[in-house]
Amino acid sequence: MKFCSQCGNTVTLSQIPGDTVRRFYCAHCETVHYQNPKIIVGCLAEKDGKILLCKRAIEPRIGKWGIPAGYLENGETIEEGAVRETFEESNGVVAGLKLQSIYNLPHVNQVYIYFTAKLVSWDFTPNSETSEAALFSPDEIPWDELAFTSNKFALEKFLSDEKSENDNVFVGTYDLNHRQF
Ligand SMILES: [Zn+2]
Repeated sequence: MKFCSQCGNTVTLSQIPGDTVRRFYCAHCETVHYQNPKIIVGCLAEKDGKILLCKRAIEPRIGKWGIPAGYLENGETIEEGAVRETFEESNGVVAGLKLQSIYNLPHVNQVYIYFTAKLVSWDFTPNSETSEAALFSPDEIPWDELAFTSNKFALEKFLSDEKSENDNVFVGTYDLNHRQF
């Protein structure tokens, strides 16, 4: 951040009294510009034992497969965001959302939240975000062609979860020391 969104003057990275980290601060209008992690929400949409995945038509990871997901919007609940993103990427309508996993990416200031859901209807045509969408049985999942480690984490946990009939929510963190992509 270079300029204050309130008044247009130059901001500086400053230690604010009583705060623990440095913030972008505008000395002109005394605005502190807080920056916090982005939340990404999505659905592991299941139909007849198969999982819906979307092939990305946009960077990053264009051409790779991912769980339909995207940034939570202001004024939206995480469930609403997950339903919306699934529809935007695949034209898939989901219901019966259950919190499945949370995946931390502190090095890029992101938190992924995935739900399991039932895919109620699905009428895919390629769009600006997705070139292809398909249902994959557990043994068809393109592990080597997944877009993000969060996808791998959620799918692995989803499959193990189903086998163990475990209703726990899984929490994971990207390990910078063991990059997988
Ligand atoms: Zn300002």
